[in-house]
Amino acid sequence: MNKYIETVLKDVHAKNADQKEFLQAVEEVLLTLEPVIKANKEYEKNAILERLVQPERTIIFRVPWVDDTGKVRVNRGYRIQFNSAIGPYKGGLRFDPSVNLSVLKFLAFEQIFKNSLTTLPMGGGKGGSDFNPKQSPHTPGKRCSDAEVMRFCQSFMTSLYHYIGADTDIPAGDMNVGGREIGYLFGQYKRLANEWTGVLTGKGLSFGGSLIRPEATGYGDVYFAENMLAKRGLSLEGRRCVVSGSGNVATYAAEKLIQLGAKVLTLSDRSGAIYAKDGLSAAMLQEVMHLKNVVRGELSDFAKKTKGVKFFPRVNSWQLADKIDCAFPCARQNELDGKDAAYLLKHGCTLVGEGANMPSTPEAVTAFQKAKIMYSPGKASNAGGVATSGLEMSQNSERISWTREQVDSRLRDIMKAIHDNAWEAAAKYGQKGNYVAGANIAGFTKVADAMVAQGIC
Ligand code: NAP
Repeated sequence: MNKYIETVLKDVHAKNADQKEFLQAVEEVLLTLEPVIKANKEYEKNAILERLVQPERTIIFRVPWVDDTGKVRVNRGYRIQFNSAIGPYKGGLRFDPSVNLSVLKFLAFEQIFKNSLTTLPMGGGKGGSDFNPKQSPHTPGKRCSDAEVMRFCQSFMTSLYHYIGADTDIPAGDMNVGGREIGYLFGQYKRLANEWTGVLTGKGLSFGGSLIRPEATGYGDVYFAENMLAKRGLSLEGRRCVVSGSGNVATYAAEKLIQLGAKVLTLSDRSGAIYAKDGLSAAMLQEVMHLKNVVRGELSDFAKKTKGVKFFPRVNSWQLADKIDCAFPCARQNELDGKDAAYLLKHGCTLVGEGANMPSTPEAVTAFQKAKIMYSPGKASNAGGVATSGLEMSQNSERISWTREQVDSRLRDIMKAIHDNAWEAAAKYGQKGNYVAGANIAGFTKVADAMVAQGIC
């Protein structure tokens, strides 16, 4: 290993020993940068890697709120403003009990390269809270009420608003932060700041949201897969796909796959996974979306009343089908391990397009790369969401709204540009077809050059 990279990695380990997700993400990126670091001595001279692995600012705050029984609850809120070399901080907010400093630092670190790849001027950030909207604090088995979610969001924003702004830091949604939460957060920001600006993305259409933003991450993931296949003269038509998750990214990835003639065999959630041996129809998928977004139920409920669909409790989507062409992990980090990868490869899988952030463990990634299948890391293939957030920011600044077709066509172009950048960067450094190396190198170079140009700051 290159001495400079080795020294930086050692230091990151020493300083963040308890942050395993963050360390995993840093290692994954730094280990692919060797050829660029060797070719450009300016980076070491300017301590680019040392600065890149250190967030510019980390904000941790108390979020007190009152539940429906009148009891005071306290959660922890975070915002990691990781890197602003190429634009204001940009990245989602996640509300989930698994949220901690390590998870958010890993997500914010990934976001730096993802945002750079989009070709839009956006820095990297991420935030959230250990608040769990899916479990009421006072009634086991029940979710938080809308009023509780609203009070939580208002308190969260009351602390966060000091640090964000349309030209400083523009949060968006992530796990468990969808249209409802963004609405409450936006309302509170407006009230406190006394200004109407595009300070959050993923807003409702009636108050500055962009068409296609909800669909963008899932659609973009599938567009990226289309580009990987097209490079080899292939298409998605008739391909048997396994998808994990049944949230925002998974359901829109499934929708686009069905539109393009592929078969979606599986979806999953915390209760387990569903398997439809002939593939889900568009109507079935609409039912799943209604169940997850309106009724806020579980996939087990869907399987009970749907013919041709089987439910498997407490498993993920990977080991249910006999013949698999493509896999789309769209739920959460480290959800596809070495054993799952071996199963997928054994059953014919030749393409993995990550919709979630870091869903494949390092063992799984190694297996995909050894087998030389088409494998796209989340930071490249799920960048369609943040790219469309960038388009929402542009529309807000200009006080205009583009049509669905305009936004979708720009999303397609951006996904093609990300694919081609990653492909070309990998080829330039002797790693043709390695989208991990290509995405990391292309994303890194733009940020690193901006940091060099801006001096030591
Ligand atoms: P979401 O709407 O909250 O959906 C998450 C899905 O994952 C749900 O189906 C959830 O199941 C499932 N899940 C979460 N934790 C789980 C666990 N411990 N075990 C089993 N299933 C679990 O979130 P999302 O926005 O789709 O995000 C999914 C992934 O994509 C995340 O890695 C996120 O960072 C990444 N991402 C999202 C965007 C975006 O625009 N939303 C952009 C880029 C990347 P339940 O329904 O049972 O909760």
